[in-house]
Order: sequence, then structure tokens, then C-alpha cells
Amino acid sequence: MSFAEYGPYLAPPRDRTGPLTADLDVDVAIVGAGYTGLSTALALRSAGIDAVVLEADFAGAGASGRNAGHLTPTIGKDLPTVLRFFGRERASALVRFADAAVEHTARVMEKHAIECDYRASGNLLAAVHPKQAAKLERAAELGRSLGSRVRFVDEGEMRERGLPPAFHCGVLEEAGGTFDPGRYVLGLRRATRAAGVRLFEQTPVTAIEEGRRVGLRTPGARVTADRVLIATNGYTATLGWRRRAIVPLACSLFETEALDDEQRRALGWPGGEGIYTAHEALESYRVTAGGRVVGGVKTARYAYASRLPAANHPRSFALIERTLRERFPMLRQLGIRHFWSGWLGYTPDFLPSLGATGEHGNVHHAVGFAGHGVAQATLMGELAAEQLQGREHPLAKALARRTFSWPPEPLRWLAFQAIMGVFGALDARTDRQVRKLRGA
Ligand SMILES: Cc1cc2nc3c(=O)[nH]c(=O)nc-3n(C[C@H](O)[C@H](O)[C@H](O)COP(=O)(O)OP(=O)(O)OC[C@H]3O[C@@H](n4cnc5c(N)ncnc54)[C@H](O)[C@@H]3O)c2cc1C
Repeated sequence: MSFAEYGPYLAPPRDRTGPLTADLDVDVAIVGAGYTGLSTALALRSAGIDAVVLEADFAGAGASGRNAGHLTPTIGKDLPTVLRFFGRERASALVRFADAAVEHTARVMEKHAIECDYRASGNLLAAVHPKQAAKLERAAELGRSLGSRVRFVDEGEMRERGLPPAFHCGVLEEAGGTFDPGRYVLGLRRATRAAGVRLFEQTPVTAIEEGRRVGLRTPGARVTADRVLIATNGYTATLGWRRRAIVPLACSLFETEALDDEQRRALGWPGGEGIYTAHEALESYRVTAGGRVVGGVKTARYAYASRLPAANHPRSFALIERTLRERFPMLRQLGIRHFWSGWLGYTPDFLPSLGATGEHGNVHHAVGFAGHGVAQATLMGELAAEQLQGREHPLAKALARRTFSWPPEPLRWLAFQAIMGVFGALDARTDRQVRKLRGA
């Protein structure tokens, strides 16, 4: 087993660009080269706008190159919560936004010929205990009434589909599937550079100087831009900017060794649906094109004052490995190849935030994708590009809302300990009931 700093999907590219060494004067500067920054740069470029992208490390080094690999229309904490907070009309608009995001992302992969093992298998929100069935049935009904392409899959269909027995029933999201995040983000990087966008890797922005024109300081040079887009998601607080609007949480994943023929047969799961569990802090699982199981999460970590939590966290790694063995007893002998962690950005309502701030309204942001940013961050590129040109994309209305801030410290830290404590206790109770059921 090894700890993989960037995850198993990608390493710093040999043709890494940057750092920026001479001052620049541009129309638009984008900070961060994940799905959001690269997609925005591509959309701006096709509108004939000169944008540069400044990336602290290399494109895809953040969550975009190391996530779990589920292309999903999930939005917010869950649909019942979205409905409770925002009412039916807004909840339907958010479902349309999330579905459009999945369709758009699949089109982007096709348009730029990005070979990233995308498999349109759908994703399943699965019950690990029969007591969760009624809640999932209601969630599926609600989803359908809001226009989402979801349906309840009962125990009989789960077994017909050959899904592993740990999962009793579930809500199938028919849109989306699973893919290789590293190959996807490297494909976006290639497309962005081929389109003529100037990408400066190894160029961290160290300060944002607001004004009629915005100044961005980097260690080697200064960039002056008419407009700036902050596309740093989970890293945003480290810029000292919107520290209470979006906070970083860290989650951990593993990748196993490749399954041998016998393990493959014992596992079943021929449709390769992505799976996440109906816990408060979910577990996720998928099988890669190379026959490895990728999974994890189970808990999220917050560090005082919105600092980035440590990436190498043996306690989280032990927890997700233990859970893998419990859900998949047939894989008891299967080794773990890598553990890693990444940082997600959370707004208080778990929804993405698109907006502009500053005295001159020229510091734009597109952040806060929680655990569902693959599709939403990709689509956000289109929305942010429109906003940077002074227009509103029709889908942006779904995201326009009164936003809230996380509380100041030390309350923020205490709030996260309390939330994760309650989630952990509820999930631990479910898992105890699962063990009892299995022992019965
Ligand atoms: C463990 C994990 C599992 C996940 N699983 C899924 C999943 O299965 N499905 C799903 O939909 N979503 C998932 N997500 C969420 C998804 O990966 C993110 O929402 C999405 O990648 C966000 O993209 P982004 O471009 O906004 O941010 P990032 O990809 O994080 O990009 C931000 C970039 O900004 C750069 N940066 C930071 N500070 C600076 C600075 N000062 N100057 C310049 N550059 C800077 C970083 O280096 C980084 O490259 C997961 C996330 C994690 C961490």
C-alpha cells in the first residue's frame, strides 16, 4: 500500500508550463486549472476572448484529477433537503441544471475526443440495510416529480443486475456513469492548450488586488486583468478570499489491485454502475476499466480556520479499507494499491456559487461544488464565461439565491465537529445494524 499525493490517475505532466516570469496585461485571468478554470477558458476562447489561466501546481492537480470518478446529476445534500430549503420551483430548476450538467459533460468528452473510459452505466444510491428502503423509495418518487431521471430499484432487480449483495435496493440515476478523472482533466488541458489559451502552471496567485482593473500577484510576475475568475473551489480560503463563504473539507479514497478472474466472478456487478451508499457521509465504489475497485470517503475532515486538512491521513485510510472489507467480503484478499485525499469546497447550502464581488464587480467566482463537481464544474465553465461577458446563461438562474456564510471561528470548527460527529454516530448505528443483520 502507498500514499499517492496526487491520486493514482495522473502525475505532473512532462510538458508542465510556467512559471510566469514576466508581467501580463489581459482581458480575463482565471485562477485555478481544474474542470471549472479549464472549461471557462475554453468557452471564452471560442467567444474570441483572451484569457490566461494561472495554476499553482499543474492542471488537474486538485480535486479534478483525483476524485472518485462518478459523473452524477446529484445536487445539494439530497433532494428532500433541497426541496425543504428552496421550494418546488427552485428544486426543479436545480434538477434541470444538474441533468444538463451531466449531458453537457458527456458532450464535452465527445467533442474534444477525450478518452477517459466513460461508461454511461448510471449511478446507484444504494441501501446497505433494508430499513433504508422506504426512504429511498420516497427519494426516487420525489426526484421523478421534480423531473429527474431516477427510479427505484428493488431488491429483486438488484439481484437480477448481479449487484453485490451488500446493497439491498437503491435509487438509480440513469444519467451519467463512471470515468477516469485524470484522463478527463488531462484531455481538457490538451484541448485548452490546443485552442490557444495561455496556461501558466507552477504559478500560484499570492494576492488579489482589487480595483478598476484587478492585479494578481504571483511569485515571479504580476498579472493585470479587466476581470478575474476565481476557480479554486476547495482551495479558495487559502487565497484569503471568501473564507466564510466556502470552506475546504478533505475526503479520502483507495484504489485496489486489479481483480483476478475468480474475484471478478465472485464480485458480479456486470453493469458497472457507480455506487454510493445512503449514509449521511456516503461511501462510493466503482470498478475501473482496468478492473480495480476505487472507493472510499465515509468521513470528511475540516481543519481550524479553513486551512487545508492533511492529505496523508492514516486513520481515514484505515476506516475506508475496513469498510471495503465489510461490504465486499469476497474481496478479503484483494490488496490496496493506493490511498489518497483531495479537497472539496462547501458552501453552507451545499450548492455551487457563481457571482461577482469587489467594488467594481470584476472579481468573479465559480466555486462550491461539494461532492458533485464533475458535471457541475464542467457546465459552470459555460455559465462563468457568459457572466464574464456581462450576460446571464439561462441555467444560471437556478443558482441565483440568497447565500449564507459559515460562522466565524471557533464556532465554525465546533460546527463541523458537531455535524461530522452526528453524521458519524448515525452512520455507525446503521453499520452496526448491518453487522447484526448479517450475523442473524
Ligand atoms: C476525494 C474526492 C472525491 C470526489 N468524487 C467526486 C465524484 O465522484 N463525482 C463528482 O461529481 N465530484 C466528485 N468530487 C468533487 C469534484 O472533484 C470537484 O467538485 C471538482 O473537481 C471541482 O473542480 P474545480 O475546477 O472547481 O476545482 P479543483 O479541481 O480543485 O481545481 C482548483 C485548482 O486551483 C488551483 N489553485 C489553488 N490555489 C491556487 C492559487 N493560489 N493560485 C493558482 N491556482 C490555485 C489548485 O491547484 C487546483 O488545480 C470529489 C472530490 C474529492 C476531493
